[in-house]
Amino acid sequence: MIEVAIASGKGGVGKSTVAASLAIHFSKQGYDVVLADADAEAPNVHLVLGINSWDEVRSYSEGYIAKIDYSKCTGCGRCAEVCAFKAVKYVGGRYVISELTCEGCLTCSLVCPESAISRTRVVAGEVRVVRRTRWGFPLVSSLLTLGRPNSGKLVTEVKNTARTFANDNSIIIIDSAAGIGCQVIASLAGAHMTVLIAEPTPASFSDLKRVHAVAKHFGIPSALIINKSDINPDYTEVITEYAKKEKIDFLGTIPYDEDIPKSLSLLKPPTEAFPQSPASKALRNVARVFEERILRNWSKWRSEFKPTEARPYVPIIIKPDEHSISGEVK
Ligand code: SF4
Ligand code: SF4
Repeated sequence: MIEVAIASGKGGVGKSTVAASLAIHFSKQGYDVVLADADAEAPNVHLVLGINSWDEVRSYSEGYIAKIDYSKCTGCGRCAEVCAFKAVKYVGGRYVISELTCEGCLTCSLVCPESAISRTRVVAGEVRVVRRTRWGFPLVSSLLTLGRPNSGKLVTEVKNTARTFANDNSIIIIDSAAGIGCQVIASLAGAHMTVLIAEPTPASFSDLKRVHAVAKHFGIPSALIINKSDINPDYTEVITEYAKKEKIDFLGTIPYDEDIPKSLSLLKPPTEAFPQSPASKALRNVARVFEERILRNWSKWRSEFKPTEARPYVPIIIKPDEHSISGEVK
């Protein structure tokens, strides 16, 4: 089994389109594919594939929040006084706990004279499954509940669900969220490789380097695809030079093509909506290069591009006495 995390750092550079196109190509070539949408905040792989119903939707609960039993509450206000997170407000003649800001510490329940506060599980999101898309592979997706914090645990739940559809020979393609936060870290943790997607812009390059640092932290080999490569050929060269220096396998480029947004508005993968468009041809080409260079030579490729040593993440610790009154770091 090979788990491939598609990541970019910057959002909107074409991760989901590439992930869906790779899944379709590999499936057509006879590989066992599982596609996982690990962008719980803004999942859209199902939209790229034109999927509008799920075979299974299950709630995902995580953590606790406090809940007031109003049949016992006398309105004394002690809970609001002790809540360090300012999660208890006096609204409409009674004390109300905000689901968005309550941290579930239960300090309020300790001081409540009426034992009116208990804790309850929070629905943090849902895991959604299509067991068999029309290309034959399953899609596992997620959806974070509005207002809940970014959940790496929800991404892990998506990955674990995706693994239940896989066998020893499967390729699990994981469409990661943007950024380098907990969802991305959960996507990359345990992955066998990453495919980094970039656009030839300074912002995309900067974010690419940050997510590549996360991949190196986990000791994961990386490949690179540059999308909209022709909008700034000089910068495309800058990024490919970086890839060469950093031992990232450059799989190819995809040109800017208006057929891509058109296909997304039609809820169809570009390689099917406009199979002869330049971007569709390029998507098929990078998938072919991926298959020939990586899938057919996995062990060799992995040992060639695996970072020589995992780069440990070193947190920057700023001590309180290193701050001036204005909050500036000295
Ligand atoms: S401390 Fe208990 S009784 Fe007092 S307002 Fe809060 S929930 Fe009600
Ligand atoms: S559980 Fe903690 S965070 Fe939530 S309302 Fe009570 S004191 Fe505040």
